[in-house]
Amino acid sequence: MTEKVTIIGSGPAGWTAAIYTARAELNPVVYEGAETEDNRLKGTLPLGQLSLTTEVENFPGFPAGDMTAYLDSAIEPDKRMYMGPHHKHGVSGPELMELMRQQAKNFGTRIVTDDIVEVDLSQRPFVLKTLSGHQFTSHAIILATGARANYLGLPSEETFKNKGVSACAVCDGALPRFRNKPVVVVGGGDSAMEEATFLTKFASVVYIVHRRDSFRASRIMAERALSNHKIQVKWNSTIDEVLGDEQSGVTGVRIRSTQDPSRSEVLEATGYFAAIGHTPNTDFLKGQLKTNEKGYVQWTTAQRTYTSVEGVFAAGDVADDYFRQAITAAGTGCMAALDAERWLAAQGIE
Ligand code: NAP
Repeated sequence: MTEKVTIIGSGPAGWTAAIYTARAELNPVVYEGAETEDNRLKGTLPLGQLSLTTEVENFPGFPAGDMTAYLDSAIEPDKRMYMGPHHKHGVSGPELMELMRQQAKNFGTRIVTDDIVEVDLSQRPFVLKTLSGHQFTSHAIILATGARANYLGLPSEETFKNKGVSACAVCDGALPRFRNKPVVVVGGGDSAMEEATFLTKFASVVYIVHRRDSFRASRIMAERALSNHKIQVKWNSTIDEVLGDEQSGVTGVRIRSTQDPSRSEVLEATGYFAAIGHTPNTDFLKGQLKTNEKGYVQWTTAQRTYTSVEGVFAAGDVADDYFRQAITAAGTGCMAALDAERWLAAQGIE
């Protein structure tokens, strides 16, 4: 059987595309990713980047308050492992993703817990291969595999993820653990400037640790950061190790001079934010459609989710290195579903 529409990826873009295509009776299948150690290490497990964060306070519809009864009723019992007894926040990232997954399932979406590792977009229907060795064909594809944050690759970053280590200040910056405490941002691009400036709303001091003596960031963003009295820059420095313990999470970082490696210093901090760029999850596409210079899938038409291959649509962070928000991913997921539905109808596939 050739699928009408295959959705690859299981973040907000993928589930929104699934909800819309399922309601349009296109019988979508979602490849949500495989639960492998490799995906865990890369940060590409099912349910995407949001499932790696804690509280989500800016997704409309989830005001702070006690949502326990609602979440209990909405999420299947075997998917409630992340739910605490009391919800003082809006919703947690993992909960929000379980809710979206359940919503897609309620409308009949089929879900396969496997990776797509290879596609052939040179012919229609398209051919897809999974990690477990299954091969099938699909008339339309919605790419929603997202992107992953780059980290330096230190074992101590892994140890303290969700305990003070983050790659998203907008997602996590307002958490109580960062309030009126020093935090560290590593990087020298626009993201680092933006994250550091944002964090000054909450933190007592924000250290930017950058490996060179000048920023890559645009002048306006760099100047904004440099003129903020709460920001201190540690030039020509790299992070040796994130320091902390089981109970407190991150307690500081040890930095080392790139000019004189014998010089190191400990900065006390309750947070460590990596802002050294993202990598789109496009390895499996192997250059079969147009990407930008950073590897993000290119939308080819304004206000549409078309890619350079007819019948292949893209939604969410895999095609967006600019907004990168859950709500914008969900929005483009909806657009991709409607684009796919109309394209399939034009092909006489309904
Ligand atoms: P970026 O411009 O590639 O900057 C990455 C930064 O991380 C660079 O300063 C780089 O140092 C540093 N870095 C990379 N690998 C590192 C490593 N292993 N160790 C230490 N430092 C490392 O990435 P970005 O800041 O995420 O920005 C991505 C794009 O989004 C850019 O085009 C940016 O303009 C755009 N953006 C725009 C806005 C805005 O306008 N509001 C906000 C955010 C992002 P070096 O400089 O030494 O290479």
